[in-house]
Amino acid sequence: MGYKIYLNGEFVEKENAKISVFDHGLLYGDGVFEGIRSYSRRVFRLDAHVWRLYKSADSIRLNIPMTQEDFKKNIVETLKVNNLDDAYLRVVVSRGPGDLGLDPRKCKEPTIFIITDKITLYPKHFYENGLEIIIAKTKRNHPLSLNPQIKSLNYLNNILAKIEAIDAGTEEALMLSIDGHAAECTGDNIFIIKDGEIKTPSDDVGSLEGITQKAVIELAEKRGIKTRFKKMFPKEIFEGDECFLTGTAAEIIPVTRIDGKVIGKGVPGEITKKLLADFRELTKIDGTSY
Ligand code: PMP
Repeated sequence: MGYKIYLNGEFVEKENAKISVFDHGLLYGDGVFEGIRSYSRRVFRLDAHVWRLYKSADSIRLNIPMTQEDFKKNIVETLKVNNLDDAYLRVVVSRGPGDLGLDPRKCKEPTIFIITDKITLYPKHFYENGLEIIIAKTKRNHPLSLNPQIKSLNYLNNILAKIEAIDAGTEEALMLSIDGHAAECTGDNIFIIKDGEIKTPSDDVGSLEGITQKAVIELAEKRGIKTRFKKMFPKEIFEGDECFLTGTAAEIIPVTRIDGKVIGKGVPGEITKKLLADFRELTKIDGTSY
């Protein structure tokens, strides 16, 4: 038996957590979501995640029928009900059941669910030796088509790039904007370090404003390391001394090879390792306790 799932105001067993086949989240990817983590009974940056969830929902004109405060209470309650100290949470709000047309007005009630589970991370050896990634041919959605800042249920753009990564025998792929700038990976933001300065693409290139990305920038600044949002072509990424990815699930993961080219010394860099240590310390103190 799995963990209990919050579904539309009730806690139900996994087997009974069922939604309609007419749900537009399923039929059209019409909905939004968040991935959140808790560490030792502290939800990391809960306010930021719930704020982003509501911002994504606003962007698709999806009204979540509850205040952000109540939403946070439900998230925390889901963790308590399942007695989980360390967990990964998937929070989903879909347009809800409608008919077979696109019209969102036909969907009267959003579907809300919160799934908790134990976190599955990248295997340890990737943190120790670095990850190899490729550059995907699939371009990241243009912000004027489907803005990557909206964390929507429509992840097909990312999945196509992920399939390219898998075909190439790697775990992740860097996605470029239509005009060829580095945007982000399929589920993570990207950073490079060059001559002691940290650079990451700004979200206007076409990436999600990462909550881990922001935390890492704060940590770097605390260490006195210069950080900058920058538009970068792949050449600048290849020339980095260090490269790493950030995301709620991955935390900070070093990248040592892109498209077969070795980055820096080909091993996880010193600054990357320091930031990962800082980040792990931060997760012990920065969070909503329950
Ligand atoms: N980009 C994409 C496309 C993502 O799905 C995610 C989250 N998995 C991120 C970046 C990283 O964001 P965060 O640090 O807020 O998890």
